[in-house]
Amino acid sequence: MNKQEQCPCGSKKLFPECCMPIIQGNGMAETAEQLMRSRYTAFSKKENEYLLASWAKETRPKQLDTDEVPIKWIGLEVLDTEEGSSEDNSGTVSFIASFIVSGHLCHLQEKSRFTKKDDIWFYLDGIPKSATTKIARNSSCPCGSGKKFKRCCL
Ligand SMILES: [Zn+2]
Ligand SMILES: [Zn+2]
Repeated sequence: MNKQEQCPCGSKKLFPECCMPIIQGNGMAETAEQLMRSRYTAFSKKENEYLLASWAKETRPKQLDTDEVPIKWIGLEVLDTEEGSSEDNSGTVSFIASFIVSGHLCHLQEKSRFTKKDDIWFYLDGIPKSATTKIARNSSCPCGSGKKFKRCCL
């Protein structure tokens, strides 16, 4: 693994100093936003085990198959948080997660609810609103690589 890799969650921190310890179980999310970020990163890295482990028991799916559809996650923007600090036991995080799937750029906007049990944050559920845009094959790739879309994430 590249130690200088920027964390996919968009924090501008290095991956080993941001979401990696949380995903690997060497650290804990102190806030709902941190958990949200680590789950986005886990989605982008297909860390299914962590995704399930950080899901509240009441709403956790039996299994997750992130390989089912080839999704390329390209960015996360946290819009707003309500409560969810280390002092709280619940909180919400509103965000936009962008990804490319089958030649479409999708912006998934969701307001997620988080709950804390025995000092551990879990994802509860969310209200999604998604928007999709088609990308021209010759336009520059939205992942920021600087390459044409058809030569990059298509
Ligand atoms: Zn991160
Ligand atoms: Zn790309």
